[in-house]
Amino acid sequence: PLILGIETSCDETGVGIVRGQTLLADAIASSVDEHARFGGVVPEVASRAHLEAMVPTIERACETAGIRLSDVDAIAVTSGPGLAGALMVGVAAAKALAVGLGKPIYGVNHLAAHVAVDQLEHGPLPEPCLAMLVSGGHSSLLRVEDVTVGVDPMGATIDDAAGEAFDKVARLLGLPFPGGPHIDRVAREGDSVYIDFPRGLTARRDLERHRFDYSFSGLKTAVARWVEARERSGEPVPVADVAASFQEAVCDVLTRKAIDAATSEGIEDILIGGGVAANSRLRAMAEERAAAQGIRVRIPRPGLCTDNGAMVAALGAEMVARGRTPSALDLPADSSQPITTVLV
Ligand code: ATP
Ligand code: MG
Ligand code: FE
Repeated sequence: PLILGIETSCDETGVGIVRGQTLLADAIASSVDEHARFGGVVPEVASRAHLEAMVPTIERACETAGIRLSDVDAIAVTSGPGLAGALMVGVAAAKALAVGLGKPIYGVNHLAAHVAVDQLEHGPLPEPCLAMLVSGGHSSLLRVEDVTVGVDPMGATIDDAAGEAFDKVARLLGLPFPGGPHIDRVAREGDSVYIDFPRGLTARRDLERHRFDYSFSGLKTAVARWVEARERSGEPVPVADVAASFQEAVCDVLTRKAIDAATSEGIEDILIGGGVAANSRLRAMAEERAAAQGIRVRIPRPGLCTDNGAMVAALGAEMVARGRTPSALDLPADSSQPITTVLV
């Protein structure tokens, strides 16, 4: 079956088309440049950009896939979590298509879609698997039993998300928004052991209550203090070294806890998704450390890690393949849809 997926939870308007788990098109329009001067995504701006981009992006996806809209067998759309106004645009467009074409609609969880997308590249998901979702809004460890039904949260950040930390530290270092890719780039020239930044929630007393949880706000503060002290002393800030040391601290904790969670569950496959999964150091460290424990790691290519429509289509295709009941036509856009609700 041919599935069209729509993603509008944040600042990218994504339309993906898959046949089964074969990717035919992944069209994206991003309003990221419009947000850059504000240093973060502005919800109102994002909603309006989605509205303007929706129809052209659908058309572009169909053109790339070489299909007509009437060929589509089902529509999938991100119903949440995300920005309310942004989600509403995608959900409204998906409903219009479903009604117009007389095809079923699946309102799906954005985070589960970040997991499901890996199938487009690496084949059927190993289930159960341990998913580490790291993005601008989330940092969670999930036990995935069946990606279309439910995922069990094992742990999550208790303050900032990993991507948020990347973006804040980048800002501090004078790098553009969103900062993750810029830190990744400048860190290549830096010394990752130049500064020993704190590893959140890894002390023994923290592990008792927060074994699989993350904390990145202390790290962000430590970087800010270090940079301020350097500036006060009048010496130049070694941007590449700070970026590399910060990135090392984030990746160290992320990979350590993911492997610990997998091991504790007797799970041999770790799947990493979300925008931060595009990070080159995280990818390398996860692979190296997991291999040492006999654990396999799957990470989609960077373009599939950040928000896109293909991930929604991939999860929709899985809903169809596993015979899940479609959503009602009055499905809601739920800005705080819990990760435990995969299909609304
Ligand atoms: P959500 O949290 O709802 O999934 P999101 O808006 O965070 O959505 P994503 O595209 O999943 O969207 O993730 C974006 C985040 O990923 C940003 O914080 C960005 O800085 C970060 N990011 C992207 N590429 C990299 C990279 N190479 N290294 C580190 N962080 C990155
Ligand atoms: Mg984004
Ligand atoms: Fe996302």
